[in-house]
Amino acid sequence: MEKYVFDHAGLIKNVKFIASPNFDARPKNEISLIVIHNISLPPGEYLGNSIIDLFTNKLDPYTHPYFAEIYTLKVSAHFLIRRDGQLIQFVSCLDRAWHAGKSIWQGRERCNDFSVGIELEGSDFDYFESAQYHELNRLIASLKENYPIQAVTGHSDIAPGRKTDPGPFFDWKKII
Ligand SMILES: [Zn+2]
Repeated sequence: MEKYVFDHAGLIKNVKFIASPNFDARPKNEISLIVIHNISLPPGEYLGNSIIDLFTNKLDPYTHPYFAEIYTLKVSAHFLIRRDGQLIQFVSCLDRAWHAGKSIWQGRERCNDFSVGIELEGSDFDYFESAQYHELNRLIASLKENYPIQAVTGHSDIAPGRKTDPGPFFDWKKII
């Protein structure tokens, strides 16, 4: 599989980049963990650009009741893989995106400090598309080639009891 090329600023070349303002510096410049999530907005719907709007603080609270609850959140992920496999980057891998929240991995708290967050457009109640697994594997392989990644984990594994994504329909066996 052909790997992506990263530039020196931590962006993948020739991939759509939509800058999210929701990031800051990594405290130790460490990139050692990949965290897999799922997201859909409105929940369970895969049309439109509401995820992009959320990550860029442009979600309209009047277009859906759920949006009124979440539109003030300051969140982001480094990457989103949409249902058709399209990859979008929001935050440089060198910076800290705000995706994991309170979390712990192998005894270390604040996983945002040292992880790359990848959102799959999906939900806890639905299968993921083969195009998404294909893109995810390409992205993981590319990240591993560029950064000292030690593990790939799920949000639910680092925030148990608080988070359930990527959910029971995410097939870890398809991650190569
Ligand atoms: Zn998550």
